[in-house]
Amino acid sequence: MKKGLLIVLSGPSGVGKGTVCASLRRRMPELVYSVSATTRPPREGEKDGVNYFFKTREQFLDMLASDALLESAEYVGNFYGTPREFVERTIAEGKDIILEIEVQGALKVKEKFPEGVFVFLLPPSLGELKQRIVGRGTESQDKIDHRLSVAVEEMNLLNKYDYAVVNDEIDRACERIQAIITAEHCKRERFQHELIAELQDLTTAKNGSER
Ligand code: 5GP
Repeated sequence: MKKGLLIVLSGPSGVGKGTVCASLRRRMPELVYSVSATTRPPREGEKDGVNYFFKTREQFLDMLASDALLESAEYVGNFYGTPREFVERTIAEGKDIILEIEVQGALKVKEKFPEGVFVFLLPPSLGELKQRIVGRGTESQDKIDHRLSVAVEEMNLLNKYDYAVVNDEIDRACERIQAIITAEHCKRERFQHELIAELQDLTTAKNGSER
């Protein structure tokens, strides 16, 4: 069976990864979403096991120690991590899975899964990125300043990715990501092994019947 794709959607803080990912999932219900573990407290309306697996610091460290996380990163004072087994099982079942994670974690996933599809979401402009970070209105000035400086560092990691998608409009960004997924499914390498094996079977069968 062909393996599913591991798609990593990342990019700087405030670029709209969460919104784009949510919209993409509505368009592609077959796309499996990787629910992360985090030590950050739930925001209003967030549900355990749906938005995140909300963990204490101790529980999170236990997960790390038992190798239960594919990657993890500390981000603005909280830990975030991707449960490993779920990702591996989903891909093995031939289903595509999407991880919506920050850039440090994405780089760690790339080390373990270089065959993953790494998509960097770009703001239409840097000014717009700043607006989105400041405009969120949920954090103190200190936190905003920190988010801004992190965002600049994060932008510099663009060159590690396979694709760049500008988030000018959510629908257009989603269409681009869908096009990437379709193209990835058509990649020659994904067919090569199976086809060669089938061709060998055919040749063996033919030679056998000619004897
Ligand atoms: P928030 O607290 O706003 O939900 O997320 C903060 C940042 O953490 C976002 O950039 C989000 O993409 C990232 N994030 C969410 N889950 C994970 C994860 O499992 N691993 C990593 N490395 N980052 C994550």
